[in-house]
Formats: sequence, structure tokens, C-alpha cells
Amino acid sequence: MKRLFFVLSAILLLLAFSACEQKESTAEPQTTRAEPTASAEPTASAEPKAEASALRTVGGYIVTANEGQRKNEYPYVLQTKNSVWYLASADLDLMGEEAFYAGLEDILQYMEADMADARKALTSRIWKEVPPVEIRTDFCGKAGASQDAGAYYNGRVNFIKLFHSWDMAKFALLHEYVHYLTIHCAEKKTMSGFYNETVAEYVSKLLCENRMFRSIDFNRNDQPELNSVAEIWGDFDETKYRNSCLSESDNYTRGTYDGQPYTCVGQYTAYRWPNKRLPDHLYELSYAEAMSLALYLMETYGAEKYLDNWDIVEEDKLADLYGYTVEELLIVWSRWNAEQCAKLGIRMEQP
Ligand SMILES: [Zn+2]
Repeated sequence: MKRLFFVLSAILLLLAFSACEQKESTAEPQTTRAEPTASAEPTASAEPKAEASALRTVGGYIVTANEGQRKNEYPYVLQTKNSVWYLASADLDLMGEEAFYAGLEDILQYMEADMADARKALTSRIWKEVPPVEIRTDFCGKAGASQDAGAYYNGRVNFIKLFHSWDMAKFALLHEYVHYLTIHCAEKKTMSGFYNETVAEYVSKLLCENRMFRSIDFNRNDQPELNSVAEIWGDFDETKYRNSCLSESDNYTRGTYDGQPYTCVGQYTAYRWPNKRLPDHLYELSYAEAMSLALYLMETYGAEKYLDNWDIVEEDKLADLYGYTVEELLIVWSRWNAEQCAKLGIRMEQP
């Protein structure tokens, strides 16, 4: 079951610097970010500017007609202090208006506080003024990336796209928002798949309360795509998350998944084999292993040092920072990981 979780989490948290971006890039407007349209002014604390254009209210925010780009695909816009949502007509048709807006209202009650937590956790590393992030819904799976991802952040065009369901959105949105903060809203940006993913996981799951994530009702069984994570995250806490990363890493290095494809933090499909239980590169680690390695470095040398160097691209420079070659670092970390698993009693039996 843990295997399923991490397969799913790797899928869910796919970053959009790879094939999925290329699939969509030609269709996306070539703006760096969506400027709020005239009918999508911030409404959190202000009176609606153009009452006539307010189509309905959701969670205290007004939904207006999209007068900007791609209005046929996304006919409605909702703006909060920290986000501009583009609501897809196909999703409204798929779910029905009431169910669609009920799901949106549900996530909105947690989202602003979660986003504020993420910005606070990254204070001094990101811009003081963070613009609202553009979020598009695509529950119908029209984007190519939805085949492989639960959500993704497109770093080139600069938007988050949410796939499948509102629960999936709650699962992934804060992780994707951290991508937006560290890839877009910083002078010194995260530049590698390894740092992108480990920082997004660290901030969204260990530094933030992540109300959206915690509010998922994992006991509901009408969402098969989340069943495999329910067993792991039904009573989520930080220790459980850390232990999952460690025990899952242990499984990779002990051969449990030999020959099975997995999505690595470099955003491609990789494999392990009996004669190759550790990868050659940091970016070929699974999400769980990359997170375990990041925890090893942070717990041993300090989180500040780890985060201070998040713009490193070359993996040998990162290893060198800690006095190792990449190969040595992987060996040292994997020993640490195995020791931790034995100490904590979280090593799973070999199948
Ligand atoms: Zn990610």
C-alpha cells in the first residue's frame, strides 16, 4: 500500500517542466502570468465593482464572466486575495454547477490561510509581495498532463492546473503553490527537479498545517483515485510522513521495486535493478528517496544550509557542499536511512 501511495504521490505532484508542458505549451497564451481581467478585481474585502457581472457568490467571492483569454474554455473567473481561478465550462458540465461550486467553496475556506502559511515559511526567500497565482481547473482530463498527474505547476507559462476532482485538488494544491513561490516568486529560484520537489514537499507537508490536505475525507469511497492514499494519510501527521519517506526509501534500496517503473524527481520514468539499487544521480531518486535525502541533509547539517542553496543546479556541486561526491552522498544517505528504519522499527518485511 505504501508503494501505491508513493506511485500516486509522484504522479500527483508532477512538475510541469517535462513532456506535459510541451503537450500544452502551444495552446497556452504566451503571457508570463494572467493579468486579472477587468471583471475579476479582488473581492475579498471590497464591494463587487461591477455588480452586473457578478454571476454568483462562492465562499464570499464573486464569480464573473471571463472577458480575457480563452474565455470559451474558461468562461468564469473567481479572484481571491492570493489566487485567480479560471473555471472550465467542461468541468461545470461534468460535475453539474451545484456540485462544482460546492467543491470550490469547500477548498476556498482553507486555501487563503494555507497559502499565507507557505509564504510565511519561506519569508526572506521569496518576494515580499506575491502576486495572485493563476489556477485553472481541468477535471475532465482534457490536458495531456492529466494522464500522468493529479495537478501540476507550469513554470514557463506560470499557472497551476488541477485535475480529476476537488479532493485531488485539496491533496495537491499547496505543494503546487510552493512550486509557484520557489520557481517564480523569488530572486533566487529553485532550479532542479530535486530541489523543486523536496522543498515543495517539505514546506507543504512539514512546515505548514495544510488545512486543505487534512480536510479530505479519506473514508469516502467514491473517489477510487484516492483510495490508495487513504490508508497512509487518513490520520496524517508529520511523523507519519517522515516515516513513510524513510521506509519507502528503504524498500527501493533493498530491491522491493526492482524492475518496476517509477517517476523520479527529474520527471521521467526510471528503474532499479538487482545490480543497481541506488541511482547514479540525485535527480533519479523517487520522491520518497529525494525527501529522505533532503531530511538527512537538513537534520544533519541544518535546514538553513539546505534551503540557502536551493538554486544549485549541478548535483555534484550540491554533494560537494557537504564534502561528498554524488556517489558517496547516496551511499552515506542510504546507510543513514537504513539505520533510521531499524531504529524506528519501520522496516517493512520483504515480500
Ligand atoms: Zn511537484
